[in-house]
Amino acid sequence: MGDKFVFEPTSIEKLQDQYDTIVIGSGSTGLVSAIQAHELGLKPVILEKMEQIGGNTNRASSGMNAAETNVQFQHGVIDNFEDFYRETYRGGGKLNDQDLLSYFTNHAALAVDWLADHNIKLDDLTITGGMSKMRTHRPATMAPIGAF
Ligand SMILES: Cc1cc2nc3c(=O)[nH]c(=O)nc-3n(C[C@H](O)[C@H](O)[C@H](O)COP(=O)(O)OP(=O)(O)OC[C@H]3O[C@@H](n4cnc5c(N)ncnc54)[C@H](O)[C@@H]3O)c2cc1C
Repeated sequence: MGDKFVFEPTSIEKLQDQYDTIVIGSGSTGLVSAIQAHELGLKPVILEKMEQIGGNTNRASSGMNAAETNVQFQHGVIDNFEDFYRETYRGGGKLNDQDLLSYFTNHAALAVDWLADHNIKLDDLTITGGMSKMRTHRPATMAPIGAF
């Protein structure tokens, strides 16, 4: 992820010259977005307000929830988007934004595949809060999922 800018007024021109995509924040959302943008031929720069990169993602430890994944299939776990949605909605005290939750539960499997394509294999499964089947994907090494 390259150069680190101290964000002074004069450096804005440098950014304009060298990058065509701005990503705000260096957590998993920002880093993945920047990698994907790069793979699509763009030149992203990530702007992070903290001294360290990683945000809350650094602290994520248990695993990543997803349903209808190849990993579940390989482990013989039969799951579906509807149960994932329902159990997450209940776990969130029914306060979740339902459209966002629906998008998340229908697309999380793609994220597990995307990570596997980038050699980050979440090939082990466990159960975490509120779920009726093994839906939390983590590395077989049990390494914390988000730490840099
Ligand atoms: C202790 C803990 C354990 C967790 N365990 C899990 C788990 O096991 N599984 C799981 O799926 N999730 C877990 N989570 C939740 C997970 O970490 C978050 O949902 C996820 O990291 C959010 O990623 P993000 O990239 O959206 O945000 P973040 O990782 O928080 O990144 C946001 C970044 O944006 C930066 N930023 C914000 N505003 C600005 C600005 N104006 N300018 C520049 N930079 C800015 C922040 O400094 C930060 O670096 C856990 C969270 C915590 C705190």
